[in-house]
Amino acid sequence: MLTIYPDYYTQFTCIADSCSITCCQEWKIYVDDTTKNKWKTLSAPDSMDADGRKLSSYITKKEGSHVIRLLPDHRCPFLTDNKLCCLVQTYGDSVLSETCTSFPRELHTFSTHKEASLMPCCPAVIDLWQQADAMGFPSYTMFSEQILPPSAGQTQAAFLLRDHLIQLFSDASLTPEEALLTAFYFLQELLREEKSGKKLTTSLVASYFQKENLQQLLQAIHEMPCVISDLLYECNELLQDLSVNYLQEGLYTAYLSPLMEQAENLTQLFQEPTDSDARMASLWKDFMRSFSVYHPLLRSYLANDIYADLLIDEDLSLSHMLMRLEWTTLQYTAIRHSLFLQYQAQDVPVLSYEAVRESLVILTRMTGYEEEDIISYLESSFEALLWDFGYPALIVGR
Ligand code: SF4
Repeated sequence: MLTIYPDYYTQFTCIADSCSITCCQEWKIYVDDTTKNKWKTLSAPDSMDADGRKLSSYITKKEGSHVIRLLPDHRCPFLTDNKLCCLVQTYGDSVLSETCTSFPRELHTFSTHKEASLMPCCPAVIDLWQQADAMGFPSYTMFSEQILPPSAGQTQAAFLLRDHLIQLFSDASLTPEEALLTAFYFLQELLREEKSGKKLTTSLVASYFQKENLQQLLQAIHEMPCVISDLLYECNELLQDLSVNYLQEGLYTAYLSPLMEQAENLTQLFQEPTDSDARMASLWKDFMRSFSVYHPLLRSYLANDIYADLLIDEDLSLSHMLMRLEWTTLQYTAIRHSLFLQYQAQDVPVLSYEAVRESLVILTRMTGYEEEDIISYLESSFEALLWDFGYPALIVGR
């Protein structure tokens, strides 16, 4: 079966001991059955001073899956002080579990082909995107000519829609906020048309992305009212909600503890009966100017997210695409808000590349939920699984 991938995919190399936020800590490192059986026969490396304990004794069960039992400081027991893996040093790469071997690559299988991509929860991937002038994704022409059967009308339309959205998020003339709101509007309108009996076809999709339509919509987006204090209040609540369980478990504390203190300070500011609206608007304007330096990187991040997560083989429906777009939006607004909090807490505000990369990596690790967990989070946090346009307009702003 053909496997396709974006052009940056083959350029990835793990930077191992030079990694600023190693993946060998603070999350679940799955151990597959083949590795588990192999580890029953292998002893812990001498450097661990473990008295010949079998590697399998470092495995535990968490939420129904086998994972490596982390140390009390949440690091992998096989990670050495100089940030290398002592299993690889002793036995070579083949000893590693599937998760350790493949990270940060992900693979989605469709009935017609496979799609590989890189995840943003690795700093080396963010570096790759930061250094790239532009990212190339497999084109719709390639799909329609080589992969999808001509009879698969609805499937063709879904892949064409994704292709248009990737182009929308990659468009250097749009801000990520404009691209997100445009994507929401188009998907919601297409869903409305579908519910009223129209079929999703390639020509219907193409008609939405015509230049005049885009221009009219952008004009309307620019005219929408945007109350910065409401946006900040809601994003502050969202970020706190996404962080609370991790803090309780003692995970990502070096990053989250100061951030949650800043979020609390912002909450206090909302309670002050002063000119908080004007103050927030001024802080926001200043922050967004600095943040815009990273728009090319954020465009790459969002375009990659659309490529990797918008479509799944089991569900190519518009409702599923909208649900995934909601999650992308929550992640983006959480990353942006975490940077806003860090920025405005400084005496002389600066937004460094390292801070942007750290927020991208940690927040995408924190929110890298499985599909059913995303649905359950959205259902329990909002009135309905699919939002009205007003909600993304509130949290995305401009
Ligand atoms: S996070 Fe990425 S660069 Fe860092 S150790 Fe893991 S795979 Fe390597």
